[in-house]
Amino acid sequence: MDYDLGIIGAGPAGMSAAIYGKRSGLEVVLLDMDFGGGTVTINPVVENYLGLGNLKGSEMATKMREHVEHYVKITTSEFIKELDVTKEQVSIITDKRAISVGAVIIATGTEYRRLDVKGEKEFFGRGVSYCATCDGAFFRNKRIAVVGGGNSAAIEAMYLKGITDDVSLIHRRHLLRAESFYANQLKEQGVNLILNSKVKEIYGDTVVKGLKIKNKEDGTISELAVDGVFISIGTTPRSELAKNVGVKLDDYGYIIVDNTMKTNIDRVYAAGDVIGGVRQIVTAVAEGATAALSSLRVLGKQYPF
Ligand code: NAP
Repeated sequence: MDYDLGIIGAGPAGMSAAIYGKRSGLEVVLLDMDFGGGTVTINPVVENYLGLGNLKGSEMATKMREHVEHYVKITTSEFIKELDVTKEQVSIITDKRAISVGAVIIATGTEYRRLDVKGEKEFFGRGVSYCATCDGAFFRNKRIAVVGGGNSAAIEAMYLKGITDDVSLIHRRHLLRAESFYANQLKEQGVNLILNSKVKEIYGDTVVKGLKIKNKEDGTISELAVDGVFISIGTTPRSELAKNVGVKLDDYGYIIVDNTMKTNIDRVYAAGDVIGGVRQIVTAVAEGATAALSSLRVLGKQYPF
């Protein structure tokens, strides 16, 4: 066996699992297909993590990476192709090697949901973006629309408001899904709310020029001239790896776990956004810790509770 515990994904859940695993005496490998940090890295701001106040997502991710690397090095840019759970040990097969571990924690998070309208694919990188922190600066003093009504869309719209004055938020219902704290801030900051409306098309020439929007109440289609559109309509779980080995998923594709973070397959645990629920940094961190401590049981180690 190469390691006691293999952790796939170095977002908050995976990093927390690594710290708890290592400090419990396990040999841990922490793998990430990118650089680690997870989606926290691209959050414009995080202001609800107890004790940290208001912090840029990238700063929080850096602090987390530094903390975990005190214990376990993050193996970056290693893509996990598949798992083999048919033997006593779990095999993690990457694009570089096969790693055998006593237990695995899947903490692969989520990826952006697509709007699936005309122009979305064509204008990606030419006015269409899924990440305000990454691309917002290209739109200084330009006209921007954010699509979505959740916390992420609200936070992105407010972040973009600091870059340009002309920010509209388009949501398909009358009521925002975002916490009322954010909904109030949107109004206070003068974000133009276009509610009960669906984007039907993103149009332009070489770059985005505007959106066609359908009002759901009266069915009318209007045009909104914009230079950039940030799509922030939630995420879908990265649960393919798990699904392929028979891990049970819910109707939305999130991994089903019990209260020890174990899946229906022995030695396979999951934590963080990929298991759904409230999907907060604070819950991901707790789930990662729980998964790592729970794995001690199957690894024949002293189990603390
Ligand atoms: P979310 O809460 O799932 O919201 C997605 C939004 O996009 C919803 O308003 C939804 O509309 C809309 N939407 C979905 N599909 C759509 C489509 N095809 N066309 C148009 N609109 C569509 O996603 P999120 O904002 O990315 O947040 C994900 C999770 O992370 C949540 O649990 C959230 O609380 C958490 N989060 C927390 C914070 C924080 O607390 N600071 C920050 C960011 C994210 P409906 O409302 O009509 O369904």
